[in-house]
Amino acid sequence: MGLLQVCTAHLSGEKEWLQEGNEEKLQEKMASVMIEYRDSGRAAVAPDASPIFKDLVEHSDLPMPLDGFVQASNPLTPLQLDYIMDEMRGFPDELGGDYSDLLPEQKANFHVSICGSGVNGLSVALRCQRAGIPYTVFERDTDLSGTWHQNFYPGVRCDTPSITYSFSSDPNPNWKKYFADGREVFAYIKRMCVKYGISPNVKTETTVESATWDEESFMWEVKYHNKDGSVGTRKSNVYVGAVGQLSNPKIPNIPGQDVFKGQACHTARFIKDLDFTGKNVVVMGTGATAMGICPEIQKVAKHLTIFQGTPQWYVDIPNHKKNVTVEEQWCFTHVPFYERWYRFQTIRHIVDFYTDVLSLQSDSNKALHKELTEYIKKKVNYDPELVEKMIPPHPPICTRMLVDNNWCTMMLEDNVTLVSGRAKEIKENVVIGKNDEVADADIIIYATGFQSTSFCTASMKVIGKGGVALEDDWGAEPTAYLGMTRPNFPNFFMTYGPNTNVSSGGSIIWCAETAGRYIGQCVAAMVRDDLKELSVKPKVHDEYNDFITKELKWTAWDDPGCVSWYKSGATGKVTNNLPMGLEEFWSLTRKVNLNDFDKK
Ligand SMILES: Cc1cc2nc3c(=O)[nH]c(=O)nc-3n(C[C@H](O)[C@H](O)[C@H](O)COP(=O)(O)OP(=O)(O)OC[C@H]3O[C@@H](n4cnc5c(N)ncnc54)[C@H](O)[C@@H]3O)c2cc1C
Repeated sequence: MGLLQVCTAHLSGEKEWLQEGNEEKLQEKMASVMIEYRDSGRAAVAPDASPIFKDLVEHSDLPMPLDGFVQASNPLTPLQLDYIMDEMRGFPDELGGDYSDLLPEQKANFHVSICGSGVNGLSVALRCQRAGIPYTVFERDTDLSGTWHQNFYPGVRCDTPSITYSFSSDPNPNWKKYFADGREVFAYIKRMCVKYGISPNVKTETTVESATWDEESFMWEVKYHNKDGSVGTRKSNVYVGAVGQLSNPKIPNIPGQDVFKGQACHTARFIKDLDFTGKNVVVMGTGATAMGICPEIQKVAKHLTIFQGTPQWYVDIPNHKKNVTVEEQWCFTHVPFYERWYRFQTIRHIVDFYTDVLSLQSDSNKALHKELTEYIKKKVNYDPELVEKMIPPHPPICTRMLVDNNWCTMMLEDNVTLVSGRAKEIKENVVIGKNDEVADADIIIYATGFQSTSFCTASMKVIGKGGVALEDDWGAEPTAYLGMTRPNFPNFFMTYGPNTNVSSGGSIIWCAETAGRYIGQCVAAMVRDDLKELSVKPKVHDEYNDFITKELKWTAWDDPGCVSWYKSGATGKVTNNLPMGLEEFWSLTRKVNLNDFDKK
């Protein structure tokens, strides 16, 4: 009843509908309010214009929909409320930079190159499109949308609620599932690109090889090659590396890979129509991807052997595979602000949850540890061998919290074997484990993750001032101001860059929207003020990253026993995750401070 109560009170302006005990009359009241709106032609008043807004917000700590395991226990802070209201308004530009003053002649001679057409690259494209600033998106794949075009293995789906895995500016009232399938997300992103006219600016099957700063022309020279091998160059005022943290597969080097006689692929380079029926299948890895694909393989394979590097924590989310109910679908489509309040409520719980349970050794983290340990034990019927293998040695949240996609119960099936430790050798038809376990293999699936800590440099060369390559500049511990920009790399921005990953709740679309707005403002400022060079001050970059390093220390991600894709392989520093609340990063990025930059 929760959200219907909030919407009924919001639309009627009568706060008594927030009280319990009105359930019977609630639907009747909602129907009469809806009819009244329809007949009068009146638009529903915005939430924060409602005289009972404060009551509506207070009521938003109702238990979560069956989407998540988080539950708010504290009142919202004013900053958290400001942030969520910005989401409710769709992250408008008005808050941080209106582009309407940019003159056509100023814009005509400006160009932005964006590498990558995932949600992050597209978010920057969207701001350029709105501002009327010419841009090109380079995409090496055959179609746009990044992750959601490249990952089409069976079982691929969002593990954050679809309501928050959508642009705040472009809600989708028609999600079929509470956690959308990969294809559904792909279709949503494609629709958005058509709607805004972005698609014609995306150059697919075009791989960027390098981007080099030219100190004389104050331009980036972007070198790329096309599918047919022909090469091209594009000069741009601004270069954006939007290649994601999870787009370049990481496949371990295992002796014997070249002699394997069966089929083998990484999940992000899946072989189309690969048929597991009746086959012996080996999956390497136990992260989010393995959790998605393994239960699908188990259903049809002769035998499935999983080589587990690191055991994982996972939670049960009742709505994970469910279709949105017909009733709720109707509400999303017809009840004004139903989707907005759903989003509000989901984010409201996430922002509260963040600091408590993420803190290393906190009571909440310990309580979660206890709860999840019992959960796994119970699910595997207290089988001592499975319990021994499956309970992680590290605290919850230090690796990505996964959604239990029948993972535990699948382990009880006769055709599944879980092997602790990584594979050490591959032969023609078998894979050998670290303790000489032998697994028959017709197919090997590498669910082994991505070159996550290399960021842009896994995809291309980026050469800044003085001919310095980005990977040499940041060494083993990539850093950037706000995860977006580095000294000596003028007019260069990254999205989903160092320390921007929202790992415990929150969606990368949030990351894309914050980055898109910030970069959009930087670009607009350059056009408006005829700036040739915008380069973040070293002091600003260093102070920000000292703060990040200090903040990481209290997080479970930094646990020394934790092995994760968030950490630099060379030093163990957490280079990927954002150690602050969503509202804090939001407040740092909502309006660019041009004083943070050296300008020419
Ligand atoms: C299977 C899977 C499920 C996920 N589920 C979730 C989820 O539920 N919630 C969540 O918040 N996050 C999830 N993520 C994280 C996901 O990566 C982000 O949500 C988001 O899609 C990242 O967008 P992006 O634009 O930064 O990068 P990507 O979507 O990875 O796009 C980067 C693009 O850059 C292109 N590219 C790279 N190098 C070059 C080059 N040299 N030249 C041209 N093009 C290049 C790539 O082809 C790719 O299309 C998931 C990731 C995976 C892999």
